[in-house]
Amino acid sequence: MSAKSRCCIVGAGAAGLCALKYALEFGMEAVAYEKCNEIGGTWVYTEQTTDGFAAAEDVHSSMYEGLRTNLPKEVMDFPDFKFPTNMRESYILASDVLAYFQAYAEHFQLLPHIQLQQEVVRVRPQHNKWEVLTLDLQSNSFTTEIFDYIFICNGRYATPSYPQTEGIDLYKGHKIHSHVFRKAESFKDATVLMVGAGRSGMDITHHIYPFAKRIYLSHHLQQKPPITDFMPNVIQKPVVERYTADGAIFKDGTQASFTHIIFCTGYNLTIPFLSADCNLHVHDNLVYPLYKHCINIYHPTMCFIGLPIYAYPIKLFDMQTRFVMQYYSGRLQLPSTADMLADTERDLAERRERGLPRRKAHLVGERQFDYYDELAALTGIDNIKPVIKNLSKICSGKFLYELQNYRKTAFKVIDEENFVQFKLDEV
Ligand code: FAD
Repeated sequence: MSAKSRCCIVGAGAAGLCALKYALEFGMEAVAYEKCNEIGGTWVYTEQTTDGFAAAEDVHSSMYEGLRTNLPKEVMDFPDFKFPTNMRESYILASDVLAYFQAYAEHFQLLPHIQLQQEVVRVRPQHNKWEVLTLDLQSNSFTTEIFDYIFICNGRYATPSYPQTEGIDLYKGHKIHSHVFRKAESFKDATVLMVGAGRSGMDITHHIYPFAKRIYLSHHLQQKPPITDFMPNVIQKPVVERYTADGAIFKDGTQASFTHIIFCTGYNLTIPFLSADCNLHVHDNLVYPLYKHCINIYHPTMCFIGLPIYAYPIKLFDMQTRFVMQYYSGRLQLPSTADMLADTERDLAERRERGLPRRKAHLVGERQFDYYDELAALTGIDNIKPVIKNLSKICSGKFLYELQNYRKTAFKVIDEENFVQFKLDEV
């Protein structure tokens, strides 16, 4: 990498900001294109919503009013930039997270390198470089720029996924995806079917139960979530067998009528701007073939930050970006194409043996720390601190078991290994 290397970053959410910071730090001339009119990605709240399934993917973010984080802020910071020390709570408001990313961008002087309302519409390789076509969303004009490196940081929570359950077109009531859920009071006196008991399903249930008349929470978890203090107007149901005009029949043969459905059924990974000659296959939430879930094996000057799921996103972005920069800076040489392909195939085979479906090919979950160990061992970069792993032992999956109370616990990191926890109502 020469001092004049040009680097393009697609997206100015947390991953894009992180990539931009390191690209500048490593002496690149870097520009981040962001299609929204502000930075922060997921954490930018807008009132924009839709009814029904049409055009849901045109809504900028899944952020809803009053969202608090489902992870403590102690596992959500970049290693070189802390949350303000006067914040006592650990599970903080989305607006505080957004303010944190804005402060990060200001602190590292990223803003002059970010172009807002610029949508990347095509990325293609050209003579060992990247040709990036952007659309200026204000003037409706196109621009082409050439870069040496490209970081794809377009996020993975923008294109809703819906189950193809029989009868859904017969259903006459309101139906939305959690992506466009905005305000709990919109569900005042409604009878609601929540589909899915992942983070969004559980959290939106928690938001709307004080307003809704009744909530049916339909999920495929083997056991009902063992929530001791579940609200009386929430009734757990197995998955839907088929929909009717005003309700559904569930797998156990029971029926229910409702006026609204909120599909909390996740997202499909889409990267619509990659040209075919990027030599990547993007299908069923898998981007293939990538070395260590981030580097395009056939065009290694392209990388993806943030594909692995069920990780601590901010820690992941920072580790992946530092990992990639070891190669892009010339400090290390990547393995041969054949060796990287073999490594990717080994990883996919190991996942198949564990029974993971292809759409979970980038899942890390509890193994995220093994993944970080591997990135650190390969490149010699600093690993995340042991305190993060120690914290994960007590703060993972809390939304399933202590939905109403888990955010009343706060944490304080003492040193690289230790933390204390306390109840917020304790003096
Ligand atoms: P995003 O934040 O989605 O940013 C991607 C950016 O790329 C966007 O600004 C988008 O406009 C832009 N973009 C996309 N395509 C283009 C294009 N073609 N051209 C230009 N720009 C483009 N994580 C936690 O750590 N803790 C939590 O409590 C937590 N809660 C969450 C709650 C919800 C409802 C959701 C959806 C996610 C939550 N997450 C949480 C995960 C969160 O998404 C990540 O923490 C992180 O913010 C994702 O950052 P990102 O940069 O990868 O993606």
